[in-house]
Amino acid sequence: MIRARAVLVFVRATLGVLVALSFTPPAWGYEHGRSEYGARLRLASLPARVRLATPVPGFFDGGRGALLRAMATWSSVHCDAREVSFVEANSGEEALIEVRPVSSGWRHGPVIAAHTDVESDKWTGEIRRVVIELDATRRWSDAEVVPADALDLETVLLHEIGHAAGLAHSGHTSAVMRAGLKPGHAARRALDPDDVAGICAAYAAPAKVRQDEPSVRTDPRISFPSAPRALGLAAALGALGAGIAGWRRRRRARAISRSDPGSAPADA
Ligand SMILES: [Zn+2]
Repeated sequence: MIRARAVLVFVRATLGVLVALSFTPPAWGYEHGRSEYGARLRLASLPARVRLATPVPGFFDGGRGALLRAMATWSSVHCDAREVSFVEANSGEEALIEVRPVSSGWRHGPVIAAHTDVESDKWTGEIRRVVIELDATRRWSDAEVVPADALDLETVLLHEIGHAAGLAHSGHTSAVMRAGLKPGHAARRALDPDDVAGICAAYAAPAKVRQDEPSVRTDPRISFPSAPRALGLAAALGALGAGIAGWRRRRRARAISRSDPGSAPADA
């Protein structure tokens, strides 16, 4: 009986270590956007059609070139599973994502230059409609060197399209999905490995609500135990507890054996 208990403790402890090792996530900075009920946001019909509603003031092409380049950058990501992709909507075709330069009545305050509104199914997280608003009263740029009072249009659209695809912000300073771009900031027109990891993770997993994932970012600077890590820790603690309980029982059994050699412990 005592030997059987010892074997059981060993198996549980080993399992705990395996769980803890195999589920330790890489320390990426991205966050997934979530629906009202916690499902990951993702575009269900791909490629997603995008339309620039009106020209962005100050561009000879109305900002279309910057938009197409930003769409192409996200579309060029290669994941093992499903890949996200964007195409320009033809005239008369319905666009899932609309880019809307706003010339008057900007409702997001003086600090925010662009805003993305993602409408999704609250159960599945399937993205139904996206409106990307740009404050058209600001100075936008597509120059290689961004003027001090301007924002790089392609950089901002690259970031907002990331939101349109279902990503939230990243804690990585080099990520496109990092929040808080200021006027005069150098253009950031290529994706960071963190952005790529974020989009590939979003489109690889099943589109249902998962309770085993942290809804906050797993930033290496924050020692936040993710759910799988916590499970591994719980298993290891459980095994330790079982081991201590078994040792106590064996000690009690030995004490009983010493006082009454004829009796056996009831719970061993
Ligand atoms: Zn953002």
